[in-house]
Amino acid sequence: MKAAVVAKDKKVDVVEKELRPLNANEALLKMEYCGVCHTDLHVKDGDFGDVEGRVLGHEGIGRVVAVGNDVTSLKVGDRASVAWMYNACGHCEYCVEGNETLCRNVQNSGYSVDGGMAEECIVDADYAVKVPEDLDPAAASSVTCAGVTTYKAIKESNIRPGQWIAIYGLGGLGNLALQYAKNVFGAKVIGIDTNDAQLEFAKEFGADLLINPLKEDAAKVIQEKVGGAHAAVVTAVSKQAFNSAVDAVRAAGTIVAVGLPSESMDLNIPRLVLDGIIVKGSLVGTRQDLAEAFQFAAEGKVVPKYKTRKIEEINDIFDEMLSGKIQGRMVIDFSEK
Ligand SMILES: [Zn+2]
Ligand SMILES: [Zn+2]
Repeated sequence: MKAAVVAKDKKVDVVEKELRPLNANEALLKMEYCGVCHTDLHVKDGDFGDVEGRVLGHEGIGRVVAVGNDVTSLKVGDRASVAWMYNACGHCEYCVEGNETLCRNVQNSGYSVDGGMAEECIVDADYAVKVPEDLDPAAASSVTCAGVTTYKAIKESNIRPGQWIAIYGLGGLGNLALQYAKNVFGAKVIGIDTNDAQLEFAKEFGADLLINPLKEDAAKVIQEKVGGAHAAVVTAVSKQAFNSAVDAVRAAGTIVAVGLPSESMDLNIPRLVLDGIIVKGSLVGTRQDLAEAFQFAAEGKVVPKYKTRKIEEINDIFDEMLSGKIQGRMVIDFSEK
């Protein structure tokens, strides 16, 4: 089968690869689609360590074509996903308390184990979340990563219907965050981005207030116009966005961090204590979060924007990603054969 594997010099090779036999707890997926993520760029560049030879991909959707002897959660013909959380230990405090993404022994698709950017992929059947049949499988690939990450972040914000939520960064993640916040949680959404095209796009998706922080002070506008946001979700990879979020929320407001700039944020201790501000990090989502995120997308409440590409274009896609040319998700199409 054809697979996109990490090669030398920050390149990806498309190679013929033979899969090992299935273990008793595993299922084999014939892949239909796999999205290309910024995380794949870091993996192939070796930013998380050298994983030469690894099959990339953690935004995969495929059909089950075989199952191991012990598998009861999937059957041949089911559509299932290959997400960043490939599996976890299943018995540590994090796994047992519903925080399995924080398991210290988690394995990651397309990084610590072979992922879904291939014609076939082996999954741990208990961890591969099923995809609703009425959800477009190419769109589902975006929910597997960006969708569940933002859905979970909004869940973590504890926003309630009618409350104001500020979304910093309206790119691939932020755009889905906006849709989940508005159409699933019934929140009023403030969209913040330095790019006018993204703001325009967010307007089409029903943002209630839009701010370009290059033109006005986002926190000041939010405090003046709505009395401060009840919550902020920061997807922007920028320290400025985090600092603005601290000033944009009202007392008892929650800031959920999703973007990963490698810096520190400024949080004034009196602001934290006297205003009871809550700051949380949120990392992808559990199997249950993913199942919910899929279901809302299947109901049409969230519509990911994507374009299908061929696996041979993978290095071009990474170049486009680096030069900031990509709008929406690039999704490798394995189905057209
Ligand atoms: Zn991803
Ligand atoms: Zn665990």
